[in-house]
Amino acid sequence: MEYKLIKLEKIQDFINALIASGKQVLAPKQKKEKVFFSLVGSFDEIAMDYIQTAFSAKSAVFPKCEELYTFEKNGKDTILHNPPAPENDTIVFGMRPCDGAAFDYLTTFFLKENPDYHFKMRYDKTIFVGLTCSSGDEFCFCTSVGISPSDTRGSDLMLTKTENGYYMEIITEKGKKLVEQFSNFFEQTEQIDKTKYTANIQKRFDSSALKEKISGAFNWERWEETSLPCFGCGTCAFSCPTCTCFDIQDEANLVGGARYRIWDTCALGIFTKHASGHNPREKQSERWRNRILHKFLYTDEQFGTLSCVGCGRCIRNCPAELSIIEQVNAIMEG
Ligand code: SF4
Ligand code: SF4
Ligand code: SF4
Repeated sequence: MEYKLIKLEKIQDFINALIASGKQVLAPKQKKEKVFFSLVGSFDEIAMDYIQTAFSAKSAVFPKCEELYTFEKNGKDTILHNPPAPENDTIVFGMRPCDGAAFDYLTTFFLKENPDYHFKMRYDKTIFVGLTCSSGDEFCFCTSVGISPSDTRGSDLMLTKTENGYYMEIITEKGKKLVEQFSNFFEQTEQIDKTKYTANIQKRFDSSALKEKISGAFNWERWEETSLPCFGCGTCAFSCPTCTCFDIQDEANLVGGARYRIWDTCALGIFTKHASGHNPREKQSERWRNRILHKFLYTDEQFGTLSCVGCGRCIRNCPAELSIIEQVNAIMEG
């Protein structure tokens, strides 16, 4: 791996040069009391000292609503048109390491078997720049799910703030190309020990012990009791950086139309409702169980990885104050 240093006074020029070159920069931006990933027009708009954004930057590669294709009737034939690939690169700048790990999971989900055309065309044009966490809050639990607050997985470049400037690890070829293109902003440096600049996030549960316990948890008798506060709004899933569920909707008339993909969630009652009216997850407790088991059991079985990265968003954002950390600990207690 190669290492570079970008002096504190140069980071601003680097970001502004990225924007001037035509790249889209999606970065954390303060909006009232929360921070959101937003497209920025200059470095001054970026919040560099935030704990976590309200939503991740997932929509850069998997938008909330996207056109899959348009279609038109031509006699007996139907002609499909795929949307064009984005022309310019997008830089996801300053994402936290848990979100980097989430992008790592998303690429496994969308690209491992039968690569998803729409995800891939965006992912190929996106460069991920991670930022080591120097602090966390009571909702952060990345270390409980095997992720460190300076983890580089899912990032093309990784920044760590030091007293000398931002220390940069060049992780992928994509990252290397970007650094070469803007080489005048960087200095060569040696590898450093990042520990001193990295937040100390306490473990909230032991994921190996959970793995053993959760495999037999489908018929756990406390699902109903622990899910009672949930009113099925889906905020947890919509703010989750690893949730991948979507619905397909058509908007069409007699001559043509468009097919869209829109985020969906297992928290909603209609999610598994069959056309017959039968619903295999009739009760909210069954839907809550699905969410927890999907994060901590099903994707482990399917892809060999948990699909919770410990970002804490579902706890911070839940209007019913449900906590996935408390839920996991309740399962551990039996
Ligand atoms: S955000 Fe809270 S209330 Fe809404 S579905 Fe998720 S757990 Fe239930
Ligand atoms: S389940 Fe909650 S804590 Fe885990 S990745 Fe999703 S939003 Fe973050
Ligand atoms: S099944 Fe539920 S928890 Fe799993 S990805 Fe879909 S919405 Fe998220």
